Amino acid sequence: MIETTQSTNYFFPVEASIPPGAVSLEAILCTEELRRRAWRPPDHEKENRALVALARALVESPFNILQTLAEIILDVTQCDSSGLSLLTKDDGGKRFYWPAIAGEWKRHIGRGTPRDFGPCGDVLDQNRTLLFRHFERRYPYFIPITPAAEECLLVPFYIGGKAVGTIWAITHGDRRKFDSEDERIMNTLGQFASVAYQTVESIEDLKLQIAAREQAETALRALASGLEAKIRHLVNANIIGIFIWSFDGRIIDANDAFLRIVGYGRDDLVSGRLLWKELTPAEWRNADEQRVRELETTGTAQPYEKEYFHKNGDRVPVLVGGATFEKKSDEGVAFVLDLTDRKRAEAAIRESERRYSEVQNELAHANRVATMGQLSASIAHEVIQPIAATVNYAQVALRFLNAQPPNLEEARQALGATVKQGNRATDVLERIRALIKKAPPRKDTLEINGAILEVIALTRGEISKNRVSVQTQLAEGLPLIQGDRVQLQQVILNLIINAVEAMSAVSEGARELLISTGKDASGGVLVAVRDSGPGLNPESVARLFDAFYTTKPGGMGMGLSICRSIVEAHGGRIWASVTAAPGTVLQCILPVG
Ligand code: ADP
Repeated sequence: MIETTQSTNYFFPVEASIPPGAVSLEAILCTEELRRRAWRPPDHEKENRALVALARALVESPFNILQTLAEIILDVTQCDSSGLSLLTKDDGGKRFYWPAIAGEWKRHIGRGTPRDFGPCGDVLDQNRTLLFRHFERRYPYFIPITPAAEECLLVPFYIGGKAVGTIWAITHGDRRKFDSEDERIMNTLGQFASVAYQTVESIEDLKLQIAAREQAETALRALASGLEAKIRHLVNANIIGIFIWSFDGRIIDANDAFLRIVGYGRDDLVSGRLLWKELTPAEWRNADEQRVRELETTGTAQPYEKEYFHKNGDRVPVLVGGATFEKKSDEGVAFVLDLTDRKRAEAAIRESERRYSEVQNELAHANRVATMGQLSASIAHEVIQPIAATVNYAQVALRFLNAQPPNLEEARQALGATVKQGNRATDVLERIRALIKKAPPRKDTLEINGAILEVIALTRGEISKNRVSVQTQLAEGLPLIQGDRVQLQQVILNLIINAVEAMSAVSEGARELLISTGKDASGGVLVAVRDSGPGLNPESVARLFDAFYTTKPGGMGMGLSICRSIVEAHGGRIWASVTAAPGTVLQCILPVG
């Protein structure tokens, strides 16, 4: 900018504003007189001389172009003071400064002045030439610092078609009056100076831009060399494998960490025998090609897992990411992390998880077998009953067949009943077999009410032996559950047996067992087993589901712990609560699907 490079910028000394009581603009304006005053023919010779002087100033001392303009105006208009007022750029054009002053006023310098400052503000507001007489009557702040002005002629100064200031000429006595020829010549010189000023300014802008770019480049170079040092440090630290590659498959350079990962020595590297394409097993080539395409289009490849061949033929699992170099885009750098330890740890975790669930299954199976063993007497009864009935019906059928004449209709009915009872016995045996069989967990789609009814059927003997009355409230239209039918039946079986055992421990009161199902608010299925037993003490509530927690003399304390594992493996939750009436309710929620 010119104003920042030029040393003599003049500023007005006070925060000027038009004081109350100052005379109106009309009272000091006499612009119309310019036209009325005696007409002088345009002095083209003088004008040309002035323009040549300006042009010379532009070549010889471009930053002084505005000062030259002020001096030329002083000369051609024969005034006492002349100069320019321009709006500043750096505070958003709110203030004037005087980039050039010639004549009397040159001695009066000061600070910045407000946008509505004096006659200049009025000229910009009206955007036309104005002639003032004794303007200090309106702008009294001039009085203490400048000689009184008889007349002041101001013409707007345009930059890029926009009025951004004024060129002014002042007479301090009535030695001479301004006329329209003064206005014309000031306009012409103003236009020339404006173009010259803009030219100088764009040269200045250009210089600033060049300087800014040079500064940015220097900063970038400094950053790059800092970055280079950091990268070198990273390479030498050998924390991760780093190698420089080219798209044609070569490994141009590598750090020790990378060579260690693939088992090669620096000799192999130097001899050029190391090719990343050949280090990659065939099944990873597609993944590699995909990353190569990524590198070609974006310049980077997101880290991905793959394998390299170790020199000894083993495979090394690695994580690789890379980027191309900016300048040599057919080469780039790759970062390699050896995943062997991580993979080994992951495999160990997977194996221990597998073992854990195997042990859990075995435990669950053992618990089922033990429970079934506990129920064997009652279950035997469940099986014997239909078998005995089969024998009875078969005998009846025989009698009807042996009768004279044989009663075929009765015999047919008796044989039908025989088949039915036989099927009943088979069903019971099937269910027992399913519960006792050792089988890996399955994912069936099952209807919970049916599964519950089967368990109740199996425990009916035990229930009636302990004089417990059982009731069911099974909700209709429940959603289907995904899970292992046998394991979920084991949960119900455990809850029923626990309830029956708890109730048989008290001699008084009715022994009532209520098994209910319903929809849970979360959309799952809720199963509740409620008994009228002694209830739970606070210690039991806290430890109920702990392994080996039991209050029974021959108890194992594993039943509820296994129930919890099974329910949680199904994504559900199980809990116990004490009921208002004596008794306990155990509930579980099983999510759907
Ligand atoms: P176990 O039946 O071998 O003791 P469980 O894990 O099935 O093992 O039960 C743990 C303990 O929880 C039982 O010993 C008993 O004290 C308590 N318990 C379980 N169900 C009930 C119930 N319905 N009413 C009262 N206490 C119960």
